[in-house]
Amino acid sequence: MKYNKLIPLLLLVTAFVLSACSSGANQPADNGKINVVATTGQLGDALTNIGGDAINLTQLLGPGIDPHLYVPTESNLSTFANADLIVYNGLHLEAQMLRALEQMEQRGVVVVEVGSAIPADQLISDTSAGGTYDPHIWNSAPRWSMGLQAVTSALQQLDPDNAEVYQQNSERYFAEIAATDAYIREQLEKVPADIRIMITAHDAFAYYADEYGLEVRGLQGISTESEASTADVQELAAFIAENKLPAIFVESSVPVRTIESVKEASRALGHEVSIGGELYSDALAEEGHPAATYLGMMRHNIDTFVAAMTSSN
Ligand SMILES: [Zn+2]
Repeated sequence: MKYNKLIPLLLLVTAFVLSACSSGANQPADNGKINVVATTGQLGDALTNIGGDAINLTQLLGPGIDPHLYVPTESNLSTFANADLIVYNGLHLEAQMLRALEQMEQRGVVVVEVGSAIPADQLISDTSAGGTYDPHIWNSAPRWSMGLQAVTSALQQLDPDNAEVYQQNSERYFAEIAATDAYIREQLEKVPADIRIMITAHDAFAYYADEYGLEVRGLQGISTESEASTADVQELAAFIAENKLPAIFVESSVPVRTIESVKEASRALGHEVSIGGELYSDALAEEGHPAATYLGMMRHNIDTFVAAMTSSN
């Protein structure tokens, strides 16, 4: 074993020893319910709906936290170690957690990867993040439902006394997801077919594009600091001008400067493009915002897109 692989392992072992002798605030309540840990906000929201009052739920990643980069803390590891069930998105989304999740599985914790519950022919190939498939599966409502079936099954197997509760909760939640899916398709009809093009920050919307029939282009990788990226800005601006796109979209992670440079380059070509608003992709919004739940986020994104693309300025 290489030295650089040994250190994280030692940290893990240390964390377990610490967790064994502490009774910190991250210890779940001993109320007879199963302890479930979800990584992302989308999964935390799904488990709130499917598990309801029958489970103790801990959600690891809060609003605005990037799941691609997040490294679990010692406190997170101890939360993992106390779980009966860990639900993660997978397909390499939580890239920095994989080692810890593997160790938990070896310790007997039930670990469910939602992404692997979706048939491979429904997944989009993408190796850029180090995996085989694009991990942003929640952006297709039907595929997200498919993946979440594995969560319902895992809850029912772990806690058969509440199997019927999980069944009913799931049926209700999956019906709400289906209604949101229908809403997205219906709203999108309002945008002329030739401008169903979403220019946004990072490449989180490939499933969205595939499911709902739009084209997406990412601003990611465009930084105004290098010469190569100036060419990228020009190319994107030319595309925007050529297609007469009224709006482009931001995610909080993109520097305003980048967006401004695209706007300016487009203006130089004689086309005025506006900032259509903020889309939510990898993390849900803060509590109180309409995009604080998965279904709210899906509605917010389509409403934001349609409003900007159909506005006559
Ligand atoms: Zn992402």
